[in-house]
Amino acid sequence: MKKIIIANWKMNPGTLIEAKELFDSLKEISREFRETEIIICAPFVWLENFSSQGGLKRGLSLGGQNCHWESHGAFTGEISASMLADLKAGYVIIGHSERRQYLGENDLIINAKIKAALKAKIKPIVCVGERQNEEMHLVVEDQIRSALNGIPAAQLKEIVIAYEPVWAIGPGDPCSPDNALSANLFIKKVLTKLYNRAGAEKTAIVYGGSVDRKNAADYLSRSQMAGLLIGGASLDAQEFGEIIKSVGNI
Ligand code: PEP
Repeated sequence: MKKIIIANWKMNPGTLIEAKELFDSLKEISREFRETEIIICAPFVWLENFSSQGGLKRGLSLGGQNCHWESHGAFTGEISASMLADLKAGYVIIGHSERRQYLGENDLIINAKIKAALKAKIKPIVCVGERQNEEMHLVVEDQIRSALNGIPAAQLKEIVIAYEPVWAIGPGDPCSPDNALSANLFIKKVLTKLYNRAGAEKTAIVYGGSVDRKNAADYLSRSQMAGLLIGGASLDAQEFGEIIKSVGNI
């Protein structure tokens, strides 16, 4: 499996000019590291700009940060998975903790969005993780069961699960590589229970939460993660480049 490095820009940077500059730098970086799949999850409004004029190369993909569960209709302000596919997005983040917290996303909605993404042939990056003082095993198993409800084993290879302990996101403390390893093995165990071992092995599990150039490699080697989901550090081309370099040979 190719390593997957996902940049979640959230609602950043401020302008198209800055966004284009950042995208161009990340595109340069991706040229050097073809063994790594770099996925830029930028605000919707810039995706077309990035994908036009040959912006996408092998090893560099675009992703959305959300999609609606219906393909079209009276949902003011929303964007469907098929619209994202039209913009050449290959991935979409679903169930990020910020959307669960501020936009009322619940497990039912997340499940419907995952199904919509798969139907539109976009790979969902499904975020799971416990909040401060919550028990990881209980929360993560519950979130995975609900998220994958009704999804057949054959589609597991199209799904990325991002383990993002909510307390580690942003300026939080990063999760220790040993704890991330426990979460990784636990997620595989849940997938094996829900499906089978082969299905669990085919699902890419990545880590997200305060990743930087110093800790990135540990999550791939010690925690055996298939990749990383990076927020803050993906807005700094130099830091992001150092992260990619540090995991390049793992
Ligand atoms: C995120 O919000 O998905 C994330 C991983 O953020 P950060 O890297 O800033 O912790």
